[in-house]
Amino acid sequence: MILSELKALEQNLNDARGASKVVELDQQLIGRLSRMDSIREKEMSKANLGRRTQRKSQLLEVLERLKENDFGFCIDCGEEIDIRRLRINPIVRKCFSCMQD
Ligand SMILES: [Zn+2]
Repeated sequence: MILSELKALEQNLNDARGASKVVELDQQLIGRLSRMDSIREKEMSKANLGRRTQRKSQLLEVLERLKENDFGFCIDCGEEIDIRRLRINPIVRKCFSCMQD
């Protein structure tokens, strides 16, 4: 279940990266955007890509931990993390009570 979700997320990332490339190409070709607009667009797509790259490395980390059967346990106390939370966000690394600290 987790693996298929990760696969979907990876696919998502790849699609997103392709899409942002297309946007950049369009800007170069059209060249009608005002200078300010194009600078702002570039900053935004840079920030976006940064977030996605970070997300991807977090997902890869999850995959590593899955391989080592180290997935789903709190990095602080070693308790199992609620599966419902992992379903929502597989990169969660702490149980609910440790998150509060
Ligand atoms: Zn904990």
